[in-house]
Amino acid sequence: MTESAVGGPTLPQERRLVTEIPGPGSLERLDRKKAHVADGVGTTLPVFVVAAGGGVLVDVDGNSLIDLGSGIAVTSVGNAADAVRRNVHAQVDAFTHTCFMVTPYDGYVDVCAALAELTPGDHAKKSALFNSGAEAVENAVKIARVATGRDAVVVFDHAYHGRTNLTMAMTAKNMPYKNGFGPFAGEVYRAPMSYPLRDGLSGEDAAARAIDVIDKQVGAANLACIVIEPVLGEGGFVVPAPGFLPALAAWAKANGVVFIADEIQSGFCRTGDWFASDHEGVVPDLVTTAKGIAGGLPLAGVTGRAELMDSVHVGGLGGTYGGNPIACAAALGSIEEMKEHDLAARARAIGEQMHARLEAIAVDHDVIAEIRGRGAMMAIELCAPGTTDPDPVRTAAVSAYCHQHGVVTLTCGTWGNVFRFLPPLSISDALLDEAFDVVAEAFAATA
Ligand SMILES: *Cc1c(COP(=O)(O)O)cnc(C)c1O
Repeated sequence: MTESAVGGPTLPQERRLVTEIPGPGSLERLDRKKAHVADGVGTTLPVFVVAAGGGVLVDVDGNSLIDLGSGIAVTSVGNAADAVRRNVHAQVDAFTHTCFMVTPYDGYVDVCAALAELTPGDHAKKSALFNSGAEAVENAVKIARVATGRDAVVVFDHAYHGRTNLTMAMTAKNMPYKNGFGPFAGEVYRAPMSYPLRDGLSGEDAAARAIDVIDKQVGAANLACIVIEPVLGEGGFVVPAPGFLPALAAWAKANGVVFIADEIQSGFCRTGDWFASDHEGVVPDLVTTAKGIAGGLPLAGVTGRAELMDSVHVGGLGGTYGGNPIACAAALGSIEEMKEHDLAARARAIGEQMHARLEAIAVDHDVIAEIRGRGAMMAIELCAPGTTDPDPVRTAAVSAYCHQHGVVTLTCGTWGNVFRFLPPLSISDALLDEAFDVVAEAFAATA
């Protein structure tokens, strides 16, 4: 099976457990992992995958698990999606690398043209491509600093922007992302985020609170950019109160500050629109993308106002692999799938289905303090009933039950008490329903 497995949308779309999770084949491989892979690289659900597609992952023991994680919002078009596979095969046969900075090729330019078309706003835009989300965020900051001649960067409570040195400084949570890894990059300042469940503030009031901190502790004249996730990712899928993002964007514009939306997790149809910024008509100066962009291949982008992007000297942006031709081919296939199957609409439908199931579960389980999210980026926050005291223990127990019963679920949040649901947009209604049957059972079994 390991040598010849074929994944993609034709895989049987079923939950099928033939062993314990993890099964004997995975356990054997976990010993090899332990021997050869650094312990610092953890795994959430240690089954070794041999094929995936539609809404399932198949492991070495023949178990078929329902995927509610999409490899952290990456395989939104589904694993081994048809157009992605077709484009990747064709590109591998043609050439695998030249380095775009040495000799260019069409795929890179095509992806940049697509990014200009799809990202918010109809102004002139340009892009640069990289390998990972963190690299995109770093480059967005570099561009903002050159364009403004200023140093300071403002980020928010609960933010996640990556694991490189600059992005660790921008990420809020200590464990596991930052602990012991300092010293961190300087000139990064943190402002309060809008978190409706916990602050009860309107978007306008939460923005005024954040702007006051920025004004008093940084000063607009020193500030190159504000970097914000329009829906928090690792921080707990918090959707800021309506008006928060537009107010921040307006303040940034009035003060010559570059407004950067980190859409690495929320972008590419995940929230039911091309980008999460679209829901409130926010037009960022720069947008960072990665994860869902290329159906699983490593690719990231910074897209923004042409004059901002062009403020950097020739040769100032790049990297050996950035915009690799195979990754670009995958991105073009991925975007084709999103357009052809209207995956933004599919994300909205999935979101409605998940919301209805979660509402029904919440009726019986008052540990669920809030259901929130946009489209197929949905979460529940677990707190001691009637309070906002986080309950990470119950969250872990529910998650463990789901894993043992063949559903891949992910948690997140500053306190580890948020369940996030990120199914591939290629999942069927029936499979999604079955997954939430298991989630409901998990709440009942751990009550
Ligand atoms: C995942 C993520 C990143 C980092 O992306 P990598 O590809 O893991 O470097 C940055 N920002 C957000 C919002 C993310 O979700």
